[in-house]
Amino acid sequence: MKLPSKVRLCEVGLRDGLQNEPKILTTSEKLKLAEGLIDAGFKVIELGSFMSPAAVPQMADTDELYRHLNNIKGVELRALVANRKGVERAINCGCRKIKLNVSASKGHNLANINKTPEETVAAFSENVDLALKNGLEVSGSISMPFGSPWEGLIPIKDVEEIVQAYLRVGINEISLSDAAGVATPRQVYDICCSMQEKYPEVKWWLHFHNTRGMAMANILASMEAGITNFDTSLGGFGGCPFVPGATGNISSEDVVHMMDEMGIETGIDIQKLIELSRNLQAMLGREGDSYILKAGRTKDLFN
Ligand code: ZN
Repeated sequence: MKLPSKVRLCEVGLRDGLQNEPKILTTSEKLKLAEGLIDAGFKVIELGSFMSPAAVPQMADTDELYRHLNNIKGVELRALVANRKGVERAINCGCRKIKLNVSASKGHNLANINKTPEETVAAFSENVDLALKNGLEVSGSISMPFGSPWEGLIPIKDVEEIVQAYLRVGINEISLSDAAGVATPRQVYDICCSMQEKYPEVKWWLHFHNTRGMAMANILASMEAGITNFDTSLGGFGGCPFVPGATGNISSEDVVHMMDEMGIETGIDIQKLIELSRNLQAMLGREGDSYILKAGRTKDLFN
C-alpha cells in the first residue's frame, strides 16, 4: 500500500460542523473550541463563513471570531465566502484566507446560492481581484464533483471546466467536496489521479461527508492517489442544509486515530481532540458521529 508519511488536516467543525445546528453557540464557546483546536495542533482551521446571517444564523459572528484570533501566528484561519459582500466582510475583520465555492451540480448550486455554476464562475474574477488587492489568500472549492442528488453522476468535463476557471483567475488551491457523501473509493482514486496529472500546479484538498459510511475509505483511496490534504470535522457534526439526509464530515478524531495507528503524522494530539469533541457534544446537547468517542482508542485497548 502506497501511503504518505504525513498528512495535513483542516478542521472544518466550526463552519461545516456548526452551520446546520439549531442550537446557536455563543462567540465565547466558539472561541474556546478554536483555541482548543489550535492547542491540539491544527495548523489549518475553517473558522466560519461570511454568509447572510438570516440564511445561516450560526455563522453571524464569524467577523467577531477573527477579531479575537487575528494575532495567532502559524495557523491558517480560512473562511468560506459566497459573494462580494463576503469578501468585504473578510477584509474588514482581518481574515487573511478565503475559500470560494461553486457546485459542479447545477441543481445544488441553485439551491445553495441561487446561481448557476456559470454565473458563479463569472463572478469569481471580481471577488478574487478585490481579495488579492487587499492581501488576502484565495482558495476555491468544488462541491459535488463525485455526484449529486440532483443530477446523479457529474461529467468530469464539468468539474474540469471549474478547475480551469479557478486557474484562470489565479486560484491554484482547490478542494473537491463530496457534500452528498456519494463518492466511492475507486472513483475517488481515479479522479484524484487524473486531476493531479492534468493540473499538477494545483494544491488539492479533499472533503468527504460520511453520509454513507464511505468517507474513511475515500480518504484512504485519495492517499493512495497521492493526496495529503483533508478536511475533517470535530465529532463528525455537520452537513449541508440543502442535501437530503445529509450528515457531517468524517470526524476529526476518527481520522487522526487511523493516521496514528498507521504511523502517518498529523501533528495533532488525539487525547486533546477527544476531550474537545466531548465538550462540543456537551455544548450542542447531542451526540455527533464519532467512532472513537464511543469505542476509545485501539492503543488504550492494547495497553
Ligand atoms: Zn461539507
